This record gives sequence, structure tokens and C-alpha cells, in this order.
Amino acid sequence: MNAPTPVAALAPTVKLLIGGKFVESKTTEWRNVVNPATQEVLARVPFATADEIDAAIASAKEAFKTWKKTSIGARARIFLKYQHLIRENMAELAALLTAEQGKTLPDAEGDVFRGLEVVEHAASIGNLQLGELANNVAGGVDTYTLLQPLGVCAGITPFNFPAMIPLWMFPMAIATGNTFVLKPSEQDPMVTMRLVELAMEAGIPAGVLNVIHGGEMAVNALCDHKDIKAVSFVGSTKVGTHVYHRATLAGKRAQCMMGAKNHAIILPDANKDQTLNALAGAAFGAAGQRCMALSVVVLVGEAQKWIPELVEKTKTLKVNAGTEKGTDVGPLISCAALSRVEGLIERGIAEGAKLELDGRKPTVAGFEKGNFVGPTIFSGVKPGMAIYDQEVFGPVLAIVAADDLDQAIEFINANPNGNGTAIFTQSGAAARKFQEDIDVGQVGINLPIPVPVPLFSFTGSRASKLGDLGPYGKQVVMFYTQTKTVTQRWFDDSTTSHGVNTTISL
Ligand code: NAD
Repeated sequence: MNAPTPVAALAPTVKLLIGGKFVESKTTEWRNVVNPATQEVLARVPFATADEIDAAIASAKEAFKTWKKTSIGARARIFLKYQHLIRENMAELAALLTAEQGKTLPDAEGDVFRGLEVVEHAASIGNLQLGELANNVAGGVDTYTLLQPLGVCAGITPFNFPAMIPLWMFPMAIATGNTFVLKPSEQDPMVTMRLVELAMEAGIPAGVLNVIHGGEMAVNALCDHKDIKAVSFVGSTKVGTHVYHRATLAGKRAQCMMGAKNHAIILPDANKDQTLNALAGAAFGAAGQRCMALSVVVLVGEAQKWIPELVEKTKTLKVNAGTEKGTDVGPLISCAALSRVEGLIERGIAEGAKLELDGRKPTVAGFEKGNFVGPTIFSGVKPGMAIYDQEVFGPVLAIVAADDLDQAIEFINANPNGNGTAIFTQSGAAARKFQEDIDVGQVGINLPIPVPVPLFSFTGSRASKLGDLGPYGKQVVMFYTQTKTVTQRWFDDSTTSHGVNTTISL
């Protein structure tokens, strides 16, 4: 536990949101929220007590009684206003995000914007939460479905997208008529809290959205609590697997979007300049701390000769604080993340991979205390090496070689993770084969980070996802609702009576 230092004791505290009020936690456990470029303590975040967690869930349970009956129009209008408020406050939100998370200001705006798209989607809930009707399924009998909200839902979010991922969750849960308890990442909860304040300003009633803070204890409490009906999780595979098992064992729905090792295949017929630009951006943007970062590139055949050009292009990326103009690569989230990534680079060298570009200990004038690692490239990487087997979650690209497309696809499908992937080629036939045979959730064709817009749902294969239904899009409407199928018949005076019917027919 990162106990508050005397400096931190003066730092502002992050509040809980319970029953419509932003309240100070009574806990004795606090953690510092630290600017990763400077080590300045920005705030202290509480680890909520068991009573506070219970109070948040109780307030959501009470609010559900009325919120579930609120009209579609009233729900939609809140999200129309909310998207407007987010747009109006974009610069402030991005600055807050960069201060506590480290990514560049334009990328922070992107983080907010990709969440804003889900808020816009929630505003069209009237079209999304429609049931189905079949007329005359038997004589005078109609069948239709109702998509009804579940009750109290919970969301647990990671540090790397502190705006987008909370916005994947509570807007769609609330728009479908549920109430919500959110547990943001304890590493960077401030931008999430500002988004929550704006949601309340947009008109979300007291108790419909609640926020608690904490770590393992809070997460376990949400998984176990009898009044929570569904849990949405985004984070590492280890924690997500635990959350999935614990929540489903307690009878809840769960959707867990987890870790990744995203491979790109480069065929020699690809547009070289576009492909190398895309690779450098997707491997090193956000300092590699994206679940969709391209961390492995599979160079097929003649494309293996492109390594020197990739290294030269990568050298042009600027490592600096996210606040500074022209920065491409900001700091890692914490000192612990920095030493983990540096340790993995050391292991890569020790285990025999060829270090093509060493980004360790870059000089960053004015930000000497920041958690910086510059872009790092290894070639000759193989399964069994830690830099291949682990999700590095830093600006480290592993290059592997393959003879042909079949071998490359087989290699990717043998990796336990299946979050995102991409192919770069000018061949439609190769791209189509890849799309058909690859076992990965998000597939990009000449597109390095194919995160779907909210008309579709985020997904994942194998170790990257547990649960059938993904965040946002159509799938999340099914996740956050219970289908009720109603079969009805009405009698009038002309209806003939056939007496008692003991068969199963209608
Ligand atoms: P994390 O798993 O450490 O933390 C996620 C959440 O779980 C946080 O709210 C944290 O407080 C909580 N938590 C941490 N340890 C816990 C424990 N022992 N028991 C219960 N709860 C615990 O993840 P992170 O480091 O914040 O985020 C990075 C990870 O998230 C990466 O693996 C990345 O690939 C993944 N991620 C996946 C997606 C996706 O959509 N697949 C998106 C973003 C991030």
C-alpha cells in the first residue's frame, strides 16, 4: 500500500458518489494518485470501507425501483445532454487525463472521444432496446419480447483508458434502465470522477450512478454482493479471470475483456510506407499501454528486409511528457510499471533476442523523474522468451519471421490471446483468407488498431475475453437486459371454445 506521505496528506481527496452525493470516505486506507511524468502527487484516492460499498449498492437498489420505469425519451435526453457537456469540457478532461495517466494531450482527447461515441449511442436507446413481435403464431395468438433491465450492475475499469472504458459501461447500463456502481482504476480515478460529475449534471438521478474506489477487496465485494446482477470488467487476464469466476459463481452475469498480445502480419506486397507508419504508431503510441497496441509484428518473406527502415522511422518518435507539444511517447503509468518493462527488456537480451533499438533510460529534459522508456525493438523473438510470452504493456515491439501467410496465421492462433490483430497487404485474397482463418476478436485489414465504433461491439477470443456478450453496440443491450417472451391471446364473444386442451399446442 502506497501510504500517504506528508505531502500527500495535503493533496485533494477523490470522493465517493453514494446516493447522488459526492462524499469523503471514512477509510484509513489511501493511495496517492501520481503524475507519471513528474511524480507530483495530484490527489489521494480512498479504499472504500465495506459499509460504504454496501451503501453505494443499497442506493443503486433503491433508485432502480423508479429508474427502471423511466420513459425512453427521458433516459435518452440525459445522454443527449451528457454528450454535449463532454464536448464542452473536452480540453479540461484531456488535461486531467494526461496529468494522471501520462498519455499525450491529443491521445487523451482520443480517449475521451472514443467514450463520447458510446454516450451518443446511448442517446439512441429507443432504437436499440426494441423487442420483437410475431403476429398470429397460432390462431389469435401473438408473441413478443420485452428487454427489461436487470437491476444493479457494476463496472470495474483499468488504468489505461480512464475515460473511454468507464464510458463503455455506465451510459449503456443506465440507458437500458439499470442502476450502476462503478469502481474506477485506483491509479488514475480523477478524469473518471470528472466524467461522473458531468453525468450527474446531465440529469442522472441520485442513486442511479454510484462510485466507490479501492482494489481487490472492493472488487470482490462487488462480485459477491447478492444485490448486484451483472459485472462488467476490463483489465488484465489474471484479474479478469478471477472476477469472471467469482461473479458467475455468485449467480451474476459477467463480461470480462482482458489482456492481449496483438500481432500484425506484414506481407511483402503491402504498401511499405503506410505500413511502417501504422506499425510505429500502433506499437509505441500511448507508450504501448493499449490493449490493442500492436506488440508483435510477423514479417513474411521479403518483408523481413524492412527492419532497418522500421527502426529509422521509430527513431523519429519523440519521448516526452504528454503535456509537451510534439510528444509521441509519454511516460509509463508508474515506477513499478517502468521497472517491470525495463526488466523485460533485460530478459529479452538475456534470452537471445536481437535488440534492434534500445529505448531504455531516455533523456527527457525537464522531466527527469518521469517513468520513461523509449521505443524498443527486438527481432528474432520466439515463443518461450518472456518478451513474447508476457503482455509487456510498454513501448516494446517484438519482430518474428514467417515464410508465408499460412505459417503466420498458425503462429498467431497458437498464442493464448485473441484481442486484436491486423494484416497489411494489397491482396484481397490474402486479406480474406486472414479474416476467415484468424481466431482473434478485432481484425484490421490495413488498419492497425481496429477498435469498433459503437454500432458494433468490442469483442475478443480465447484468453482475451470471458463471457458471451461484449461491451457497447447491440451485444451490450442483451447483456444489460433480461429477455421476457410474452405469448398472448384475447377472447371476444365470437371465440369458439374447444374445451379443455391437455396437449402442448397453443
Ligand atoms: P488490472 O487487471 O491490474 O486492473 C483492472 C481493475 O482490477 C482495476 O480497477 C483494479 O483496481 C482491479 N484489480 C487489480 N488487482 C486486483 C485483484 N487482485 N483483485 C481484484 N481486483 C483487482 O489491469 P490494469 O493494469 O489496470 O490495466 C491493464 C490491463 O488491462 C492490460 O492487461 C490490458 O490489456 C487490459 N485491457 C484490456 C482491454 C480489453 O478491452 N480487452 C482494454 C483495456 C485494457
